[in-house]
Amino acid sequence: MRLPLGGSGKDARSVAAYTRCKPMASPESSIDTGDTIGAISTPPGRGGIGIVRLSGPQAASIAVQLVRLRHALEAGRARLADVLDETGGVDAGRIDEALVTLFGAPHSYTGEDLVEIAAHGSPVVLELLLKRALALGARLAEPGEFTQRAFLSGRLDLTQAEAVRDLIEAQTLTQARQAASQMGGALSGRVQPVKLSLLELIAQLEAGIDFAEDDVEVTAGPEIARRIEELTPPLKALEASFTRGRIVHDGLTLAIVGRPNAGKSSLFNLLVERDRAIVTATPGTTRDTVSERISLDGIPLELVDTAGLRGGLGETLEEAEQLGIRRSREALADAALVLVVLDRTQPLNEEERGLLAALEGRPALVVLNKSDLAPAGQARPECGSLATVATSALTGEGIAGLRERILTLATGGAASEPGMLTSLRHKQAIAAALAALADAAQANAHGIPHEMILIDLYRALWALDSLTGQTTPDDVLHLIFSKFCIGK
Ligand code: GDP
Repeated sequence: MRLPLGGSGKDARSVAAYTRCKPMASPESSIDTGDTIGAISTPPGRGGIGIVRLSGPQAASIAVQLVRLRHALEAGRARLADVLDETGGVDAGRIDEALVTLFGAPHSYTGEDLVEIAAHGSPVVLELLLKRALALGARLAEPGEFTQRAFLSGRLDLTQAEAVRDLIEAQTLTQARQAASQMGGALSGRVQPVKLSLLELIAQLEAGIDFAEDDVEVTAGPEIARRIEELTPPLKALEASFTRGRIVHDGLTLAIVGRPNAGKSSLFNLLVERDRAIVTATPGTTRDTVSERISLDGIPLELVDTAGLRGGLGETLEEAEQLGIRRSREALADAALVLVVLDRTQPLNEEERGLLAALEGRPALVVLNKSDLAPAGQARPECGSLATVATSALTGEGIAGLRERILTLATGGAASEPGMLTSLRHKQAIAAALAALADAAQANAHGIPHEMILIDLYRALWALDSLTGQTTPDDVLHLIFSKFCIGK
């Protein structure tokens, strides 16, 4: 077993040593990374305004050389200025007007001096500003480096930094809300009390070992068991929140399959709420897959309307249609959720029976469509254990119910809650903490010496800290920040 802090012996395991090893600065400190970074923070292309950002010790001194200010820069105040052309200097001509704002260290986004120059969104002006800033000693920022500096200066923990990226990439309001709540510390806030209780237990066991000769009371086995047990439910609840958190974050794919003419494209259009897929009375119209992203109660769903799953019935199909059918099978294999659309006016055919049997145990829903044409009291087809919903794509009957059933299928009924785990990285950290706590509980139950129990407890602490970024390896950090855009 590897000691969490590296090295061995008492000092490496002590709480004091743990605290010393924390790589993060305190939230109030501002780190001096030495160099000043710059980037255009607004998207490429023309826009109403465009912003060049500078962060680092020289941010202000570089900014004042790029523009002619009408009033001296002052932290927290926006200043009107002229953007100067190539030469800079006293005689330089004005090529734009800008608002220049200095956010002083340590209260800026990055924790360092940060200057934002908001000019008109002309790419040539913004590029000139950046080019001149680089010539004056700034370095081009790496993707996500502003946020990385915010993390390194302790202004954001890692879950909050990740949420910044999620917020920028949010495609539904629910995703944005989820990201904003994580950015506000909702996830770290759930981990923190567990971490504190764990630290207390560690400190108590350490004291028992350190002062064994001084009659410090050694914590009894049942007491340790109880305290480890108390740590588990909040972590289990966090782990369970991943079910919903993951789909809010990543979304899901839903394939609509069934025989030609069953009403797949009509249902697709109703769910998408606009005419996208071609609907005709001739079977086999949807030759390729058509997909569209919708938001169902804030959950991003990629709907894939497939070509009819025809074939194998001895029919001669055109090449394009065969290709469509192959794509449908692929979509069916890849989708997290499946809607099987049956035409209620037709008896089940062999292919449909095979499809229903193949979907047993998968998250799938059977739509009994064209129920407006079905004779009253018609028996439901045999769909095994798959749930069924009756709809009419023509009258709209049953569509609201269908949306609800899709949502339940997608979420497994898991409700939304603050501070959900949204990434596999989070989930793995919590799972590792739980596994280490289970090892500690077992070691304790077997009367194993406290030194050994402590190793497991430190592993749990290490896992929780990796979630918030205190002990996250550099390569993982690099991977996280490299997914940001430049200028954030
Ligand atoms: P797909 O081939 O499975 O995509 O089926 P379409 O959506 O193209 O529909 C085939 C035909 O059935 C079209 O003429 C639709 O208007 C019609 N249709 C679809 N759903 C219903 C329904 O619920 N009731 C009735 N009466 N007709 C429907």
